[in-house]
Amino acid sequence: MKKVLITGAAGFLGSHLCDRFIKEGFHVIAMDNLITGDLKNIEHLFKLENFEYYHHDVTKFVHVPGDLDYILHFASPASPIDYLKIPIQTLKVGALGTHNLLGLAKEKNARILIASTSEIYGDPLVHPQTEEYYGNVNTIGPRGVYDEAKRFQESITMAYHRFHGVETRIVRIFNTYGPRMRLNDGRVIPAFMGQALRGEDLTVFGDGSQTRSFCYVDDEVEGIYRLLLSDYSNPVNIGNPHEITIKDFAEEIIKLTGTDQKVIYKDLPQDDPMQRQPDISKAKRILDWEPKVGRAEGMKKTFDYFKSLSKEDLEKTEHRDFKDRNRN
Ligand code: UDP
Repeated sequence: MKKVLITGAAGFLGSHLCDRFIKEGFHVIAMDNLITGDLKNIEHLFKLENFEYYHHDVTKFVHVPGDLDYILHFASPASPIDYLKIPIQTLKVGALGTHNLLGLAKEKNARILIASTSEIYGDPLVHPQTEEYYGNVNTIGPRGVYDEAKRFQESITMAYHRFHGVETRIVRIFNTYGPRMRLNDGRVIPAFMGQALRGEDLTVFGDGSQTRSFCYVDDEVEGIYRLLLSDYSNPVNIGNPHEITIKDFAEEIIKLTGTDQKVIYKDLPQDDPMQRQPDISKAKRILDWEPKVGRAEGMKKTFDYFKSLSKEDLEKTEHRDFKDRNRN
């Protein structure tokens, strides 16, 4: 049985990856420090013999006993609100955490896949974004802690590949959504869905003309799975190219949720990218991958998930207190 270590396993993407690798017959070692993850996302796996969980912060030395075939490094805060609340942890997990996991990959002779992001393109001046675009990032802005950690992560990953011959894969993930997103992480989909369910107006930031392209989680996981098993070591965009303005998206959510809420406008956060759309020609060519789930279907599944949450969960709009986390 092949063994895979998944960091950030209790998070949104990490937990879906655990499910997928269990389904594919792997032994899954899940790791998380639960700063932004939630054990609820993986508790259904604890009864399985081929699943184990380590509570660990990967910015500290990572030890896993025995053989290891694959590592997927998905530990990181991943929403703009989180970067503001835990900027130092965000930098550390992308930089020091990645260094530790590359060291582990080298030691175990394991293949490692690193979760990078469309954020490395910053506020892009090239549209849609191809993997060859170098990006437009404000190093000292509020998003800089995430963007630069992820850019460093890509550099150190390529250095381990070139210098140590470690088998590495880099996925650049674009906005992804689905069940298990954290309701209070401030990102647009949980924000709009939470607002719709609580009967509040939907808050569009800026004039809503900025665009995003949303990928359903099952499609994202399929792309990541194929990339891991491929022999391609340069970065690959995995996302859904179907682009929409945030204003139109808010209207779509109002229709989907059947509520009579209005859209209200708030200030645009600093360095909020104006447009984002992946060019996925490379993923199509190399992985024979493209997204299959349309927004209507994916959003319905996601809304069903948020509807299933308890009233108490829905009311938890306040972000959890991260005050002490940056000390580590
Ligand atoms: N956004 C919004 N209202 C919200 C939350 C987000 O209009 O309540 C906007 C945000 O300004 C951005 C887009 O939605 O332009 C996507 O934001 P998100 O935080 O989901 O992720 P990003 O793609 O910016 O990393």
